[in-house]
Amino acid sequence: MPQKDAVRLRGKPVIEALEETLRPRIDRLLARGVTPKLAIVRMGERADDVAYERSIVKKCASLRVAAEVHALPEGAPESDLIYLLEVLGRDPSVHGILPFRPLPAHISMQRVKASIRPSKDVDCIAPYSSASIYDRLLGGFLPCTAEAVVALLRHYAVPLNGAHVVVLGRSLVVGRAVALLLLDEHCTVTVCHSRTRNLRAVAAGADVLICAMGRARMIDGEYVKEGAVVIDVGINDDGNGGICGDVDEASVVQRGVSAVTPVPGGVGGVTTALLVRNTVEACEQSQKF
Ligand code: NDP
Repeated sequence: MPQKDAVRLRGKPVIEALEETLRPRIDRLLARGVTPKLAIVRMGERADDVAYERSIVKKCASLRVAAEVHALPEGAPESDLIYLLEVLGRDPSVHGILPFRPLPAHISMQRVKASIRPSKDVDCIAPYSSASIYDRLLGGFLPCTAEAVVALLRHYAVPLNGAHVVVLGRSLVVGRAVALLLLDEHCTVTVCHSRTRNLRAVAAGADVLICAMGRARMIDGEYVKEGAVVIDVGINDDGNGGICGDVDEASVVQRGVSAVTPVPGGVGGVTTALLVRNTVEACEQSQKF
């Protein structure tokens, strides 16, 4: 008999625990007259960018971290964006820089990456930061979404040592990064992508299934085994003005998974909290304490 009482791994308790440790650090900076500040750089008016921006600004305000938005027109020349990133890199009052991606097609991502000051690269975009995912001793910031997945798994004490984790998606910032971070947790990791054969069977072998494809509700009960833990990273348009994940929650619960993250209310908020944490950390590092 499939069990139907899967645990919903909500992001809220993870966020609360993170913020509890963050507040005294922010208090300490403010007492010294230093306000941590995140600069968000957006090109164009994509609805998902604007929604994400709103949630970051709200989160920063609730923690007394400054957030300033630099919005460029979608067709602005690449040189304007690079100039802005360089100015923000030199500005001592800015501690974190977050350019929203994907950028318009006429912008070279490589040039953008090279223009972000590593010490302010709070979402791991610059080449130096990416190298930190491979070699943690380099000390750069990790990609917030990938770290959010690990933070969630750790918070809920999901057994990772020796677990078979299947990651659906191989993007640099999400799938590939999660895979590497989970290797450090002693998981046995399989990474899948659009060319993977027998995806259902591979996914159904997972103790922990991480879904990061950007395919609305594609993962149903046929992709999971009974007792699996399912982490849904996807943020997709649900066709009704809202968002949904890559997982068909009702279907995987029916199959008998032991736990699943909701969308919204799962990984997304933890990602934002980690972005703010990284900004605070960058601010502390700039003060050399
Ligand atoms: P990308 O489009 O860069 O990567 C998607 C990956 O999924 C690719 O590796 C692709 O394979 C793979 N894929 C796509 N379709 C299939 C399929 N049918 N079968 C198997 N693999 C497939 O997306 P991102 O990594 O940037 O983001 C993934 C999802 O996570 C999106 O929904 C995004 O909105 C969400 N996201 C959520 C965040 C959060 O905080 N919760 C933050 C960032 C992203 P291939 O490489 O072969 O093309």
